[in-house]
Amino acid sequence: MVDQVQGIFFQPNSSKSYDANFVWDAAGSLVLRFDGNEVGYSSSQYEIEPKLGTTHRVIHFRDGARFESADQEVFSRFEATLGKRSPLNLVHWMESRWRFALVSVVGIALFCLAFLEYGVPAVAKSVAYQVPQSVRRSISEESLDWMEQTGFLDDARVKRIKVESARAAFNESIQLVGENLSPIPEYKLHVYRGEQIGANAFALPSGDIVATEFFIDLCENEDQMVAVFLHEIAHVELQHGLRSVIQDAGVVALASIVLGDISSIAGLAGSLPAIALESRYSQQFELEADAFSGTILEESGIGAEALETILIKLHKGSPDLSAAQFLSTHPSLKQRVDKLRVIRKAND
Ligand SMILES: [Zn+2]
Repeated sequence: MVDQVQGIFFQPNSSKSYDANFVWDAAGSLVLRFDGNEVGYSSSQYEIEPKLGTTHRVIHFRDGARFESADQEVFSRFEATLGKRSPLNLVHWMESRWRFALVSVVGIALFCLAFLEYGVPAVAKSVAYQVPQSVRRSISEESLDWMEQTGFLDDARVKRIKVESARAAFNESIQLVGENLSPIPEYKLHVYRGEQIGANAFALPSGDIVATEFFIDLCENEDQMVAVFLHEIAHVELQHGLRSVIQDAGVVALASIVLGDISSIAGLAGSLPAIALESRYSQQFELEADAFSGTILEESGIGAEALETILIKLHKGSPDLSAAQFLSTHPSLKQRVDKLRVIRKAND
């Protein structure tokens, strides 16, 4: 049986329409008749628009002409026949699937990258904030114990006058944060001598903040100590320590924390001492903590310069380099100093 398809034909670049009909042969070639004309098209010279609901079926010809038909049935029949018989159509089918598959793979890869870049930190943040203080406390105590046992922190006596000066600076920092201080972490200062780790100050998720005597000696004044304590308080307030632990642990660990017991984060906290001791936070976290400290320093009248000066002193091994020379070889520190200068300018 030869199907004759009735419809309307539009010539290229013309809105004029003709009643028309055509017949298909088995290879998909068609002969179109309209207005006394007869035109032949091979199967590669036209494309059938995919079927959309119950609308008319449309054929687009390569030369720009168009044919529309309301005869859905004959199109379906033709497509079914062509689908089975035509090797060309199979190639087209595979090609379209290949493209679809490729686009899917690229899409999934992009999604995974975006999830690692933005999703994991976002989930880590929300998880870190939900960790109960009791868990933060036990993680932090274990870290401190470990540092004492391994000798990173020593129990040699620190001169009382130095401990008192650090405590005064610490209390001032807490007061400067004022009502913005979140009520959960219980802030506490620990002073160690620091033979092993030198001038250092760091925070643990519980609110325990450690300063070494070498750090106290390095500060030229109380303002610089306050500046660093504010920076460390920011790491606690923003839970940078736990967020780093969770982010470093990866997606599988993250899923097990989210889907299981949030306290299981304690099992991952082995990396916390290194993160705290070596200040192994991401640059973004350091910048956030600097901004927190710098803004409060500016508002209090102390000035963010105190943080800038002590940061350079803390990082600078050799004292004979000028600050500018030193910063030029430390781009991440330079970025931090530059941002602090922006905060200072904004408050001028
Ligand atoms: Zn830091």
